[in-house]
Amino acid sequence: MGITSHSSDEGAYRWESIPVEGYSGGTDVFKGVTKQVLFSDEQGLSSALRYFEVEPGGYSSFERHEHVHGVLILRGRGRCIVGREVRRIRAHDRIYIPPMTWHQLQADEDEYLGFLCLVNVERDRPQRPGPEERAELKADPVIGPYIRP
Ligand code: MN
Repeated sequence: MGITSHSSDEGAYRWESIPVEGYSGGTDVFKGVTKQVLFSDEQGLSSALRYFEVEPGGYSSFERHEHVHGVLILRGRGRCIVGREVRRIRAHDRIYIPPMTWHQLQADEDEYLGFLCLVNVERDRPQRPGPEERAELKADPVIGPYIRP
């Protein structure tokens, strides 16, 4: 498929003929996230470009993995944890998430957060912190108070 029209009906970003998927994983690890795969190996690429939309108050999975992410915020405002840093993010900010770096994107309570996320098609599965590591991360004075859930 060549050109695909974009719409923003009722505030949600959609692309003609691109299915909206719930984000993989359980609801115990993320909240209010949808995914639309815009480009992937179906277009002959070795990377995939996905659009994620996080509803107000929602968040992506807190995770890490060997593969990297290139992230570009398209809409809204929120917060991003990368490693031991927390940053405010808003439309057009760019985020690089290095290998094996804990990360999570969160929408503000009153606004959607939408972002493009670039990954290699061939990639490892995300890891979640075990109970001990989670306790250690939660005790971190910088990121601890912001880790969701
Ligand atoms: Mn990730």
